[in-house]
Amino acid sequence: MLMTDDQVLRVADLIDRPGASRRLDVLPAAPDDLQLPLAEVTGPLRLRGVVESVVDGLLVRATLTAQLRVSCARCLVALTERVEADVVELFTAAADPDADPEPGYTYADGVLDLDALLRDALVPAVPLRSLCSEECPGLCPQCGTNRNDAACDCSDTITDSRWAALEGLRLPD
Ligand SMILES: [Zn+2]
Ligand SMILES: [Zn+2]
Repeated sequence: MLMTDDQVLRVADLIDRPGASRRLDVLPAAPDDLQLPLAEVTGPLRLRGVVESVVDGLLVRATLTAQLRVSCARCLVALTERVEADVVELFTAAADPDADPEPGYTYADGVLDLDALLRDALVPAVPLRSLCSEECPGLCPQCGTNRNDAACDCSDTITDSRWAALEGLRLPD
């Protein structure tokens, strides 16, 4: 993957200087292998906050904003959601670049790689249930018509949803 300048943070000036800090405002690309549950990043990510040198390493305190494409939970139409996540993560010096990666975030060669942090912050930020509108009538459970667009002929058949699941259940003869 081609690293843009916004994909990594150059932090050589902050390492081993506890108390030093720098404002952070970058527009990183979404990590290549990002897999979000039922959502897709459609706009630039933005990470704004501060990188602070502390005794144990470098502390990133920032707000991540993203634009996601999700689906309405009722009618499945595509929606755009802006999400925001607060990030507070400590990066420590990578002990040995040839060793197995340690748990947690590390920096090496004066550079912080933001991919893991972006991934970990975005996954829980995806809304669990988005609606195109609070009143969205959803899809007809019988014929699948989107009731936002059209009425269908099934509408007078009232099926008690408590029993709907049982209708598909047939005991073997
Ligand atoms: Zn909807
Ligand atoms: Zn219908």
